[in-house]
Amino acid sequence: MLDKCLNPECSEPFLYLHVGRLFRFERQPHSNINAPEPAAVLGRNSWEFFWLCENCASRYTLLMQPDGTIEMVARPTKKTVAPRPQKKRKSA
Ligand SMILES: [Zn+2]
Repeated sequence: MLDKCLNPECSEPFLYLHVGRLFRFERQPHSNINAPEPAAVLGRNSWEFFWLCENCASRYTLLMQPDGTIEMVARPTKKTVAPRPQKKRKSA
């Protein structure tokens, strides 16, 4: 359901379509790939909608995994350079 931002750490409520980013994924039942009636299969495809608020959409995007689960992945940032994790060397 689209009631809030998909980010579990974010509680931004979904209010307007033009705010943030709406993702649409086509969910195809795996067991029906070889169904004898393609038309019936097409009609059964269901769309799922997910929403990220403006703040989260600027940092994350959504990907559908081969198993059908939706994964929130960090977008590559162009503006800000992510600080490199510095390995602490032991000064022996
Ligand atoms: Zn959010």
